[in-house]
Order: sequence, then structure tokens, then C-alpha cells
Amino acid sequence: MPSFVGRVCVNCVMDESDPFISFDEKGVCNHCKEYKEKATKKLVPLNQREAEFKRIISKIQTEGKGKKYDCILGISGGTDSSYMAYLAKKNDLRPLVVHFDNGWNSELAVKNIENILSKLEFDLETFVIDWEEFKDIQLAYLKAGVIDIEAITDHAIAGTLYKLAGKHNIKYILSGYNIVTEAILPNAWVYNKQDHINIIDIHNKFGTIPLKNFPFFDSISRKKYINAKGIKTINILNYIDYNKKEVQQILKDELDWRDYGGKHYESIFTRFYQGYILPTKFNVDKRKAHLSTLICSGQITRDEALKELGEPIYDFEQLKTDKEFVLKKLGLSEKKFEDIMKQEPVPHSDFKVGTGSIYDEYKWLKPLKPILSSIKRK
Ligand SMILES: [Zn+2]
Repeated sequence: MPSFVGRVCVNCVMDESDPFISFDEKGVCNHCKEYKEKATKKLVPLNQREAEFKRIISKIQTEGKGKKYDCILGISGGTDSSYMAYLAKKNDLRPLVVHFDNGWNSELAVKNIENILSKLEFDLETFVIDWEEFKDIQLAYLKAGVIDIEAITDHAIAGTLYKLAGKHNIKYILSGYNIVTEAILPNAWVYNKQDHINIIDIHNKFGTIPLKNFPFFDSISRKKYINAKGIKTINILNYIDYNKKEVQQILKDELDWRDYGGKHYESIFTRFYQGYILPTKFNVDKRKAHLSTLICSGQITRDEALKELGEPIYDFEQLKTDKEFVLKKLGLSEKKFEDIMKQEPVPHSDFKVGTGSIYDEYKWLKPLKPILSSIKRK
């Protein structure tokens, strides 16, 4: 049986582990409604989608004429980014493919990336993060007790992609973010990936070494690359009829790609974070959001989602191996880690947050602390 917190939506599988979830009189949650709104706003109607996709591809090609690359894309070895690379090849784009290595790649991820690149014959640039710095920020986030430890990776990936795009005079960044498999994600479960002020403040309070190489994407960089150079991000998967199961089959058949058995499980840290830290400390099972998105986009039924949620989030042996690996790599003792896990969650907004409209919506996260505590006591 899936383990739910409080009330569950009758349409998807979201529950009150999202402290801000609301239900209408029929028992349908706000995420189901917001999914529809997002899909209407961000997705081109199916009958016009192909034409719009072709128009975008041709624009990228035209503007990239005479340049070594016409676009840039980040590859993790996961479904979305792998398929994006495949799609680029199919449509004669000439991307610079970038892999961001934060030290946590699984062997399978490395293998998948190698297979994909050798089949598609694209140039690969691997950006290896300064591990001592990255470790120091990850430890700072763990000690701070904030929820979105992955925000630092996402922030650094954006920073790296924009900088490389600038360096190679590339106008378009292709992003694998897509509505039909990712739209639902409660604000309380993540934090604004763009807020470098928050990263700096958390690191100032809990870090131990100065950050000299971390690829911050601050407001000056944003102005430089987005406003001045006009670099644009395109969520290209929103312009096709994107079906996760079908896409994974294509990747397996054509690129010798292998499944990781979980969203973003190409990274060992992410697997441990989503499979252990989030559910144990924050009472968050991200599968609920992923599966709910797939229900809303009609890619699975609610019964299928319930069945999947009934499976353990982590294989016991895998958890043991991963925990040992993660603690050793971070230099954390078992005792210190258990202390961190027992600490009350702390909202990101207990630290400095960036100013300006894009950050304002996060200020209301302040009341999250007592709500999270009350959920934990249930
Ligand atoms: Zn719902």
C-alpha cells in the first residue's frame, strides 16, 4: 500500500505532504488544475505542434549558420536529456553537448553518455566541478537543514551552460524541462534554483572553505548572457508529442541506453536524496509529483501510479550501499549524519534570499517550518 500523508487527490496521487495543497468540492487538487492551466498556456495544440517545432528548428539552424555549433545542450544520461540529444541529431542540429560532472555520476550514467555520444557523433565538453568546493556546499546545505540540496547542482548547470554558450557564441540553449512529465512539483518541495544569494548565505553560515570556482549564475551573469548576448533557453520537448515510455524505448533500441529505475537516478547523490533524505527527513516522496504529472498528461492511469507508489522507494541493499558511499565521499560520520537527519527542517527563507520579483513568491515559504513540523509529528 502506498503511504500517504493526510488527504489524497481523487484524480492524481498528490497528498498533504505538500503543506499547501488544496482540494475542490469534488476532491480534485490544485495541482491537477494548475497542470491544465500550464498545459494550455505552454503547450502548442497538438495539431499545430509539429509545424511550430519545425519553425523553431529552422530558426536555430538559420541563426547558427557559419558557426561551429548552432545550439548547446546539457546531458545527464537521463531520459529527457538523452532524448533531446537524439532529437537534435534527427533534425540536423549541431549542438555542443555538455556534461556537468558534480562527482556523483553512477557508472551507468557514464556508460549511457558514452554510448549516446558515440552513436550521435556530437562533440562533448565535460565540465568537472571543483569537488572540494562542491562538497563543502553540499555539506553546508545538509547542515543548514534546507530541503533543496539539488538547487546547487541545477544552479551550477545553468551557470555553466550560459557561460559556455557565451564563449562559443551560441544563441540557443536546449533544455529538457517539459510539461507532460515534469509540470507538477510543489513549491514547498523545492527552492528557486536561480537564487545565488541564498546559496551564498547558506554557504557563509555553514561552509568551511572559500568558493573560488563555483559557476554562480548571478544577476550580472544573467544580464550579460540573457539581456546583452540574447541567449535563449528553449524547452524543446514541449514542442513534440512527448511520451516517456515511447521515448525510453527509442533510446534503448537506437542508442543502447539503459534505464536507471527512477527519475534522475543517474546520480548516486540524487538517488540517495530522493530515496532517503527527502522521505525520511522532509516527508516528501517525489514520485508522487512525477506520477501525478504522468496521470494528468494521460501517460499512465491512477491505478498504475498507485501500484508504483506501493513499491518501496529504495531497494534495501541499494540504500545500504549508497548510504555508505555518500557518507564516505562527503566525509560524514554515521553519527553526524543521523544528527542532521533528526534536525528540524529549516526553510530556505531563513537565509538571505535574492530580491526582485522572481524571488518574492518564496517569501511566503517562511511559515513552512511549523507546518512541516506538524506533519512530522502526525
Ligand atoms: Zn490532483
